[in-house]
Amino acid sequence: LVVVKNINKHYGELHVLKNINAVVNRGEVVVVIGPSGSGKSTLCRAINRLETIDDGVITIDGVKLPAEGKALAHLRADVGMVFQAFNLFAHKTVLENVTLGPMKVRGLSKAEAEKKAMALLERVGVANQAKKMPAQLSGGQQQRVAIARALAMEPKLILLDEPTSALDPEMINEVLEVMVDLANEGMTMIVVTHEMGFARKAADRVIFMAEGEIVEETSPEEFFTNPQSLRAQDFLSKIL
Ligand code: ATP
Ligand code: MG
Repeated sequence: LVVVKNINKHYGELHVLKNINAVVNRGEVVVVIGPSGSGKSTLCRAINRLETIDDGVITIDGVKLPAEGKALAHLRADVGMVFQAFNLFAHKTVLENVTLGPMKVRGLSKAEAEKKAMALLERVGVANQAKKMPAQLSGGQQQRVAIARALAMEPKLILLDEPTSALDPEMINEVLEVMVDLANEGMTMIVVTHEMGFARKAADRVIFMAEGEIVEETSPEEFFTNPQSLRAQDFLSKIL
């Protein structure tokens, strides 16, 4: 579904992505792990084309990036994104947050979009918050709304960039549970997270990045019990 071939990205002098190659198949859950500044978010943003790349090719469902105009709009709609900071529209209700995209991009009527949104809010356990404004919700609830909003577009792929790292500890699990459910339902996911529990439970593969490179790519069991590189061993010793 996603093919990343030899991509490079610089910010000025800084070589943030170095010859990255990766494939994510339909239905796969890939967890991306690595130290701060290793390029995880940049890679996610490049896949969603929120970021340009210097060279290399990214294709999503056979469509080559960089796409423009209509193709880009389609691509964005097909790739759901959930960020670390709950980036809900602050001046819209929870329900409006979830109905906006489907009405604008997918052409659903208001009634259709609301029906769908309520079902999704139900699924992530926040249907009773539909009329509230985002600021009135807890972080965990906001993040579940963000997931519902991404799902409302019926994306082919969801990218989650440290979706739980800004949450208070007691709210992390409620969001991880939603993510595990999604994984079990066969959603294709790329998840940047240091939550080992999630990686162990849901990941098909772990990609370990350091200094802009993919250093290791293996199963979660293998990665956590038997990391090959010194950099991975060092990283794991700090977070486990
Ligand atoms: P973290 O775990 O802290 O989120 P990360 O692996 O997601 O880190 P990135 O956000 O991808 O790392 O950043 C990779 C490198 O690129 C960092 O050194 C960062 O300072 C730099 N960087 C990121 N965005 C920009 C930007 N817009 N302009 C210049 N440098 C940037
Ligand atoms: Mg990041």
